[in-house]
Amino acid sequence: MGIQQIEVYHVTLGYKEPFRIAPRASTESHNVIVKIVTDYDVVGWGESSPSQRVTGETAETVIKTLDKIAPKLIGMCPLRIEQDVEVMDSIVEENPAAKAAIDIALHDIFGKTARKPLFMLMGGYRTEVLTDLTLGIKSPKEMAKDAVKAVKKGFKALKVKVGVDPAEDVERIRLIREAVGNNIEIRIDANQGWTPKQAIEVLNKIEKFNIQFAEQPVPAEDIKGLIKVRKNSPIPIMADESVHSPEDALRLIRAEAVDLINIKLMKSGGILKGRKIADIAEAAGIPCMIGCMGESEIGIAAGAHLAAAVKNIQYADLDSDILLKDKLVKKGGTKVKNSMRIFPKQNGLGIKELDQKLLGKPKRIYK
Ligand SMILES: [Mg+2]
Repeated sequence: MGIQQIEVYHVTLGYKEPFRIAPRASTESHNVIVKIVTDYDVVGWGESSPSQRVTGETAETVIKTLDKIAPKLIGMCPLRIEQDVEVMDSIVEENPAAKAAIDIALHDIFGKTARKPLFMLMGGYRTEVLTDLTLGIKSPKEMAKDAVKAVKKGFKALKVKVGVDPAEDVERIRLIREAVGNNIEIRIDANQGWTPKQAIEVLNKIEKFNIQFAEQPVPAEDIKGLIKVRKNSPIPIMADESVHSPEDALRLIRAEAVDLINIKLMKSGGILKGRKIADIAEAAGIPCMIGCMGESEIGIAAGAHLAAAVKNIQYADLDSDILLKDKLVKKGGTKVKNSMRIFPKQNGLGIKELDQKLLGKPKRIYK
C-alpha cells in the first residue's frame, strides 16, 4: 500500500469577531488543507494553520515546504508514520506547521485503514474531552460579559487572554471571576506579554481569584525569566510559545522552568511528535494541555483525538473552529456539547464532507 497522490488547498476562514491576544489581533485564518490519496481507496485529510508569530510560517511558506516534501512521499507507505516523518525531517528542518498537515492526514488514513476512530487506536483513555472557550482581549467589562455568554452556552472552563497592561489584567480577572462565580475553571494566557517582574506581581494579585494555571507569562526565549516566575508564582506556570518540539520539552523540564506544557500540533509537527512531548512530560510528572492556532474542524479533530487517546493530556483548549464563522467541514468532525468535545462514530478523524466552495480548487497536485 502506498501514497498515490497529495493535493494541497489554500483556504481563508473568517473569525466571527476580531480575535485579539497580547501581540496582535486576527480577523481571518489562512490555512492549508492536505488530502492524501492512497492506492487502496482510503483518503486522509490534514491541515496546517501556521502562525508566523510562533513558528515563522505562513500559508505561503507551508505550500513551499510541501513543494519539497510531498513529491518524496509519493509511493511511501502511509502507515509507516515514523518513517514518513523521518523523511520529512531529512528534507527540511523546522516548518512544523507544514509537516503537521501531512502527519495529520497520515493519522486519518491510519484510523480509516484500521476502521476505528483514531483516538481508540492511539490509547483510548477518554471518550470525550473537556475544552475551554477562549476570551480574546477586550475591555475588562466586555470580557466579563463574554464570559457570562460562554457559561450560558455550557462552557465549564474559560481561557482568558491577558498580557497587555498589568493593572488592567488584574481587573479583567477580577470582573470575570465575579461574573461567572466559583464553579467555572479560569486559566489565563499572557502570550509572552509580561516582563518577569510584572508577571510575578500580577500572578500574586490574582491568586485569590482561583486561577488554574498561567500560560506563557514571559517571552518564549526568556527561559531564565520563566524559571524566576515559576519560583515566585502561587499559580502553576504553563509553557506554550517556549515549547515547540519534544527536544524543547526536555530542555525546559530539565531547567525546572515549567509546571505544565501546552502542546500544539502546529508547533510539534503533528500528532506523532505531539505524543512524544506528552510522554516525555508524563515521565517528569508534568501534565499537558492540547491547544490550537486557527484550525478548522480538521485540525481540531486531530488535537481532540490525541487528547482523548493520551492520559497525560489532561487539559484542552480546542476552540478555534467555534471562534471561526466559516465552517470548512459540513459533515463529521468533533462537536462541543456542554464543554465536552464529542467524537463521531466514523473512522480516522471522522471528517465526512467538506464545503467545496470554501475548499476551492487544489493549488498543487503531486502524483
Ligand atoms: Mg497560548
